[in-house]
Amino acid sequence: MNQSTLFGKTSKTSPKDEVSTNANLLIRGGFVDKVMAGVYSYLPLGLRVLQKVQNIIREEMNALGGQEILMPALQPKEPWMQTGRWSDPGPEVMFRVIGREDKEFGLGWTHEEIVTPLAKKFISSYKDLPLALFQIQDKFRNEPRAKSGILRGREFNMKDLYSFHANQDDLNTFYDQAQKAYAKIFDRCGLHALVTESSGGAFSKYSHEFQVLTENGEDIIFYCSKCEYAQNREISEYKTGDQCPKCNGVMAEGKAIEVGNIFKLKTRFTDAFDVKFTDENGKQQPVLMGCYGIGPSRVMGAIVETCNDGAGIIWPAAVAPYDAHIIPLGEEEIVTELLDEVVEELEDAGVSVLVDDRAATVGAKFADADLIGLPTRIVVSSKSLSKGGVEVKRRREQTAEIISKKDVLTWLQK
Ligand SMILES: [Zn+2]
Repeated sequence: MNQSTLFGKTSKTSPKDEVSTNANLLIRGGFVDKVMAGVYSYLPLGLRVLQKVQNIIREEMNALGGQEILMPALQPKEPWMQTGRWSDPGPEVMFRVIGREDKEFGLGWTHEEIVTPLAKKFISSYKDLPLALFQIQDKFRNEPRAKSGILRGREFNMKDLYSFHANQDDLNTFYDQAQKAYAKIFDRCGLHALVTESSGGAFSKYSHEFQVLTENGEDIIFYCSKCEYAQNREISEYKTGDQCPKCNGVMAEGKAIEVGNIFKLKTRFTDAFDVKFTDENGKQQPVLMGCYGIGPSRVMGAIVETCNDGAGIIWPAAVAPYDAHIIPLGEEEIVTELLDEVVEELEDAGVSVLVDDRAATVGAKFADADLIGLPTRIVVSSKSLSKGGVEVKRRREQTAEIISKKDVLTWLQK
């Protein structure tokens, strides 16, 4: 991809109305564009990151045995009346839409009201269980304060998985597997998430949140820095300095971003929609449910919040929009030839590259490379050639080095 034709441009100045680090860097880097508070357009660079996060999640959900579906954002009022959630939490959370003849609809902020009646149509026997359905789709929340960039949107991208089980043991087993899959997803995305106990509602003692410690987090958790046992402050029995209940470490308080949550719903929704199955003995039994959410857009925001420095974003390799930023300096034939050779070799090897072919100063190109934050920067110039090849630098490191053209691929893969 040539940067001169890439849609979206970098900007030196911070947007006036954005207070969050993630929105500032993502807007300045040309990843997203703000439409209104809590609502953003994804430009080509930003969409590439979002899709990489989505694909990591999709791979792990498929490995867990999930089947991907797509449910509507526009939802009828009736199933929400049936669960009581049309009025509680109601319009505080759900955007309502008035259609023709004053018919009311809602924009989905979660999908139990759609997926439970859907599953009911196909579950009749114990042979139909367990079942796990997931989707990656945009959701809507009537947020009172949408000031956290893509961390807390009024429209946001979400992966939601719903599992259906014949008994508690089966739900527990799947829940533990889902927890492991989640840990793997965050790890692959370059996030260190703490499994944090939180309120389980009326049906379980605890649910679990995945919390990433960062100064800009909106949640407060208490955690053990030794074994990483953690509880959300909302339910915590601990305070700073208490001994960890799991090891001899000490509990500390920290701000964190919630990037995922898993919840045993048990029969909360299957009771509301009367979802039953026939067991091995021909007896009718209630179906048990679990739900498991991760917001890809929020994960992307959390990555920016935790992976940046004064100059810009530092994308983890697995979610970077491109693998390498190639910067040619000068228009001599010798430089152009070397550039073509390097680009061809890397692209043949499956390395995606962004080539800064713009007519800009060296300083401006380097500043933009730092702001956009691709994992590696490769400078091709007559100066680098005279020193023996190309100049390479990792975004995380301060110093550049000259390596021979034939070693570029090996260096990138190191
Ligand atoms: Zn501990």
